[in-house]
Parts: sequence; C-alpha cells; structure tokens
Amino acid sequence: MIDTHCHLTFPEFVDRIDATMSAALAAGVDGVISISTTVPDAQRLTAISQQHPRVFVSAGVHPLYSDELPPGQTQHDWPALTRAAANPKCVAWGELGLDHHYNEPARDVQIRVLQEQLATIAAARAAGIDKPIILHCREAFSTLIPILRASGLPTDRMVFHCFTGTRADMAALLAIGAMVSFTGAITYKKSDEPRAALDLCPIDRIMIETDAPFLPPEPHRSARPCTPAMSRLTAEFVAARKGLPWPDYHARLNANTHRFFGITSST
Ligand SMILES: [Zn+2]
Repeated sequence: MIDTHCHLTFPEFVDRIDATMSAALAAGVDGVISISTTVPDAQRLTAISQQHPRVFVSAGVHPLYSDELPPGQTQHDWPALTRAAANPKCVAWGELGLDHHYNEPARDVQIRVLQEQLATIAAARAAGIDKPIILHCREAFSTLIPILRASGLPTDRMVFHCFTGTRADMAALLAIGAMVSFTGAITYKKSDEPRAALDLCPIDRIMIETDAPFLPPEPHRSARPCTPAMSRLTAEFVAARKGLPWPDYHARLNANTHRFFGITSST
C-alpha cells in the first residue's frame, strides 16, 4: 500500500528519508506521497522525488501557510508552483483549502490564496497539466465546497485529506463525488462521530494516509514522530470497521490509490 499523505520535508524526517522508507516497506508500505505546504517546499520535494524512487510528491500552498511569503514577495510564486507540478513524480496539487480551527491566518487571506491557487490549477489544466487535488478542510466545509464547485474544476478528482468531520460533512463530500482520506485520528477514542461518518463512505471512495509526523494511530498514539509505516495500522483499522478481510480491503485500497493518483503498489 501507499501512504498517500505525509510530510518528509519536516524536521523529523530530514536526513532520514532512506531509513523511513525502509521501515515503511518492512510494514508493507512501499511508497509515499510527500505533501507540499509552500512553494519553496514544493521545490524541495521536486529534488527529493528525484533521489528516492518510491517518494511521490505534490505541489501546493497549505491554508495555514497562506500568509507565509519569502521576503520581498507580495504573492505566492504561482508560476514556480506550476513548474513543480509538471514534475512527473508530482502526482497531485495540494494540500490547499481552508482551516477555520485557528484564527490565523485571517480567513480572507486563506480564501484569497485558495482562489489564486484554484485559478493557477485551472490554467495549468488548460495547458495540459492534469493532476488531482488534495484538500485540507478543517471546520470549513460549508465555505469550501461552494468555492470548489464554483472553480469549475472536477470535484470527483479531489480528495479531502484527514477527514475528522461529521456525518453531514461526509454526505456533502459524497454528493460532489469527492474521495475521502483517513489518518490515525480515526482510531482515537474520541472519534465516534468521524467513525460514524466513515460508516457512510463507500469503500471505493476511501484512501489511507498518516499525515506524518502528526497523528500516530492507536496503539502508538504517544509515539513521536508518526511515520509512514503506521499507515498500515490505520488501513487495518478501516478494514475491520468495514468488516472486510484484510486481503480484500487491501486490494480495493490499492485500486483506489491507483485510480486516483496513478500509483501502483506491489505490497
Ligand atoms: Zn498534511
């Protein structure tokens, strides 16, 4: 299987990518998608993807970094982001979206950067760069979904990562044809409502991730850092919740990852 969302450029993994990938492989995780949070991060990931065959990457500006600009810049370098997205190892745009859990960056800044990013993606798509979109949405579904629909981009090529929402949030995502991705948070004791939402989600709409270095699944919740190897535990948890034997669920999970991101797993 593939860990479809982790952050190998975070300090926990710098200089440890080979060891991290070996440990993942030993757990049956034979690839990762390392997710970008800023334009310079996307550029670092381009280089990493060229050194590590089973590290795939994304290109995007995270909403919580929407006000983080290099000195002297008043706007994110969208042409540079498009160049990063054109890398053959770049399998998606993202993560982008809205985070209303925090008051910073201000909502109007998050929305402006999101709109600029969606326009960048639409222009790249018209120029032949056609990749799916990874969304970060925290306590903002009712604002984000109308913006995505208005963008004209295909909502069935979007995945909402780290789903921790309600049954109503899940219904809204299923209605627009989006995929939904789960982290170790779905295993936590307090996650009864997200688990009830998972019960509503068809198996062919589910992907699995860690969001490493964050959110280690049970029984490793106190471990630091969370690592891509742990995505296997979250996948097994979801298989059990769906009442499917592991080999059956595993095959369907890999089919979803292949269909959505174009990545094949041989574990
Ligand atoms: Zn993330």
